[in-house]
Amino acid sequence: MSMRRRDFLKLAGFTALAGIGGSVLTGGNGKGRLEAAQAAPGKVTPSGKRLAMVIDMSRLKSESDVKKITDACHRIHNVPYFDNPKNEIKWIWTETFEHAFPGQKHKFLPEGFKSKPFFVLCNHCENPSCVRVCPTQTMFKRADGVVVHDPHRCIGCKYCMAACPYGAISYNLNDPRHAKNLQDYVNPGFPTRAIGVVEKCTFCVERLAKGLKPACAEASNGAIIFGDANDPSSEIGKLLASRFTIRRRPELGEEPNVYYII
Ligand code: SF4
Ligand code: SF4
Repeated sequence: MSMRRRDFLKLAGFTALAGIGGSVLTGGNGKGRLEAAQAAPGKVTPSGKRLAMVIDMSRLKSESDVKKITDACHRIHNVPYFDNPKNEIKWIWTETFEHAFPGQKHKFLPEGFKSKPFFVLCNHCENPSCVRVCPTQTMFKRADGVVVHDPHRCIGCKYCMAACPYGAISYNLNDPRHAKNLQDYVNPGFPTRAIGVVEKCTFCVERLAKGLKPACAEASNGAIIFGDANDPSSEIGKLLASRFTIRRRPELGEEPNVYYII
């Protein structure tokens, strides 16, 4: 990475994330980012935690329920909106059942089910391809299992985008701060990103560090449950033990940590 590019990215505001979120990125334990990266290959994270999400779409009754959740995430994280789909940046969005779960499709699915919308986002996989291919260790797995991205190191190579089988990573082809929505509102508590780097859902690590739920879970009125799936006494642990859930494309071996009640 040339000094020029590095300086550009730093000037673009990512040092702010390093400053306010360094310990957030590494799980708040004050240890180095490289140590967090070593969590990638193992099935059990060093902390013994498995932070996960369960999404129950049946509890979301209207388009406005869905919009409320997407907006909660995108507003709090200054996710830019561009009209042209080629420039789209998304952290959480909906896909139809048949696109989100291609292996579950069959001709006897109930009427309307194939086109039913399901929230999709980064799955914070146990074996994340995005982490394996990143040449600069920009994408890494924290000790608690959350897969995060250190944007001030990102060189914009897009290897992670090519490797992620879920299309969970977006690339800033344009300067996010020129997006219309960010002209109207910017959350000063979260750094904006720069042109030429990738971004994705972070499982709201900045909120977890304050003991808060992810913003999408908070806005979901109980439809999105988040917590440590390895803790049988947690709400999510109990839910996973008592309800049938599915994950997106488990056959790929990424071991997604987002579960769905269908
Ligand atoms: S869903 Fe994609 S971006 Fe998220 S951890 Fe898995 S491989 Fe990485
Ligand atoms: S966990 Fe946080 S970053 Fe991820 S989709 Fe939900 S609100 Fe957005």
